[in-house]
Amino acid sequence: MFNVQNIRKDFPILKTEIYGKPLIYLDNAATSQKPSCVIEQITHAYTTLNANIHRGVHYLSQQATQAHEDARKTVQRFINARHLREIIFTRGTTEAINLVAFSFGEAFCRPGDEIVISEQEHHSNMVPWQMLAQRKGLTLKFIPINEKGELKLEAFEKLLSEKTRLVSVTHVSNVLGTINPVKEIIAKAHAENIPVLIDGAQSIPHLHIDVQDLDADFFVFSSHKVYGPTGIGVLYGKEKYLRELPPYQGGGEMISSVSFEKTVYNDIPFKFEAGTPDYIGSTGLAAALDYLTALGLENIEAYENELLHYATQEFLKIDRMRIFGTADRKSSVISFLLDGIHHYDTGMLLDKLGIAVRTGHHCAEPLIHILGVEGTVRASFAFYNTKEEIDSLVAGLKRVVSMF
Ligand code: PMP
Repeated sequence: MFNVQNIRKDFPILKTEIYGKPLIYLDNAATSQKPSCVIEQITHAYTTLNANIHRGVHYLSQQATQAHEDARKTVQRFINARHLREIIFTRGTTEAINLVAFSFGEAFCRPGDEIVISEQEHHSNMVPWQMLAQRKGLTLKFIPINEKGELKLEAFEKLLSEKTRLVSVTHVSNVLGTINPVKEIIAKAHAENIPVLIDGAQSIPHLHIDVQDLDADFFVFSSHKVYGPTGIGVLYGKEKYLRELPPYQGGGEMISSVSFEKTVYNDIPFKFEAGTPDYIGSTGLAAALDYLTALGLENIEAYENELLHYATQEFLKIDRMRIFGTADRKSSVISFLLDGIHHYDTGMLLDKLGIAVRTGHHCAEPLIHILGVEGTVRASFAFYNTKEEIDSLVAGLKRVVSMF
């Protein structure tokens, strides 16, 4: 069974004290903490197999190459991609979306075409499409949300037309916690022959992901949000698209041959991996994914759901509490405001109690404007959080209310 006290021992940072109080880390949607196995893997990799990978004839280089390519296999298994060559390592979600926005835009977009995203998107899944729109003369369309913070699917269907080249939506909203019905969205887009990119930054730590079952054409995520190291992430793309897309960056690794006159590009996935990759980070990410697999994604999801429901129920007992995002299917994120109290003040006062939450627009300014506020406070839970921590948060919030 899920023993949270044992699990907490795997995360050394959770023993930290802040202003003499135990750290209560509730900023997991921004980044997750790292289990010892990930930290040890990074030390192990630097200690025993550090050498630049691919094409090295010497032993260490071959060992490092093997570890990096094994990590690719771990990612493939974790998201159930059909082919290993469909897994591209990037710097993170942001770089993965920029890659697709650039390369897909070059291959398939003409002036007058349309890209459909949603009102929920993080800036990472908005700005690259705005840049593409500007470069190529495209128009962006936005799937609206209802009062619960769910995407309006009828409106979505009406946005699709023969001009739509791609749909790009988040799986889980980082502000509202809404779990979007991406399988249905993909099926509806595919009925019109439109490919779909899923921003999995907020779903990969919480939900079991099967890209073949979803039938996603592109699926992107960051290692640091899924208990792995920073600076690395993944772009999954269906082979049929990856083969058609031109490279995003040029340099070493992505070539098969170069002369002064011309370059022949390497095969996928390497065509999209210019320069020395993060071959240490990839093994750290693999260690994180193995750790999650051992815990069981279903167990994680069930426990985090329990935390979400407990926290929501306790939050609603607090005076002046307003929760943003009440979708029927929600991930373990609660955005809220205490009426009449600035989000920044709430965050600052909680910090003094050792409680880490995020405040502001959460890199989703357009969504925050739709909500009619300047920002919110966001508490986001991971499987190492406890009901006792939620009790401390609730007590802290009651104290904030009494102070104002
Ligand atoms: N999309 C969503 C939904 C996110 O929550 C985030 C991170 N807050 C990103 C994209 C960007 O991720 P990264 O900064 O790791 O590239």
